[in-house]
Amino acid sequence: MQQPCAISVQNVHKSYGKTKAVNGLSFSVKHAGCFGLLGPNGAGKTTMMKMVYGKAERDAKPEGVINVLGFDPQHNPLNVRHLLGVVPQDDNLDVGLNVYQNLSLFAKFYGLSGSAAKTAIEHLIEMMELTDKRYSKTRELSGGMKRRLIIARALLNNPKILILDEPTTGLDPQVRHMIWDKLRLMKKDGITMLLTTHYMEEAFQLCDDLIIMHKGEKVIEGQPRELLEQSIEKYVLDIVNKERMDKIKDCLNSPSLRADISRETLHIYSNHIVELNEIASQLEPGDYFLRAANLEDLFIKATGRALDDSG
Ligand code: ADP
Repeated sequence: MQQPCAISVQNVHKSYGKTKAVNGLSFSVKHAGCFGLLGPNGAGKTTMMKMVYGKAERDAKPEGVINVLGFDPQHNPLNVRHLLGVVPQDDNLDVGLNVYQNLSLFAKFYGLSGSAAKTAIEHLIEMMELTDKRYSKTRELSGGMKRRLIIARALLNNPKILILDEPTTGLDPQVRHMIWDKLRLMKKDGITMLLTTHYMEEAFQLCDDLIIMHKGEKVIEGQPRELLEQSIEKYVLDIVNKERMDKIKDCLNSPSLRADISRETLHIYSNHIVELNEIASQLEPGDYFLRAANLEDLFIKATGRALDDSG
């Protein structure tokens, strides 16, 4: 019988000594959907992922539940590992081997050999556009090629669920878009995805549902587009020159405006672009930036911090 959702997490806690990495987290991932765990460094995203794929144990008390396609990763690690492909954050490829050999080595781990292994490897090399590089040593590959090879490796056992930990961190925008296209194709093929990222654009492009985490807890949950439509004003005026902030202080008394400061920037939010344009007209062109609100603004609203803040 098919489980109602691919992954179900209920009231999960994880402590490292005094550090509460995950604090009572609950969420569910739909079959063939892409679910995002979004949050700044240290929010607990990787720890949550590791508990899903059986690399970290959750706290026994308070007792939480993790169900991956009917299995508890803590009690049935092998069953879960056969159903999952994992793309870890670090490039843990064997640098002395070439592209084909890296995949061939993993195929053996999965019990694939002979023509079945060859067919699977050829298909993945082509799919990830690595054909020209099949005999290149891993150390000679660019960051984007290494990522594609790691994704190919994670797909060797034909997984039902793909776990992606910061899949495009450190890559340039063009490569990032290419990887997003590949991931969208996999989703179309029915693969469920659980993804961590601190790039709001990545979450927006790929995720059907997401949670934004902060200090191990869920602060926002929903569908990216709906969240933006329902939970935050449409427009933002970012004022980047602190000296100019005094100049427009009086304008901020309007009830249709909301202001937030994060790091060095004053953000003024409104549903009325005309109102923001009026404020901008009192400033110099280099002092401000007028734009549509995004998931990062939602995060700042919920926590008072920026997504790329560390610590
Ligand atoms: P994220 O993936 O959102 O950046 P992590 O899950 O890596 O966050 O970390 C959450 C918190 O748990 C951080 O405070 C981090 O220092 C701590 N942490 C993560 N892994 C370990 C570990 N193996 N030992 C001790 N503390 C850890």
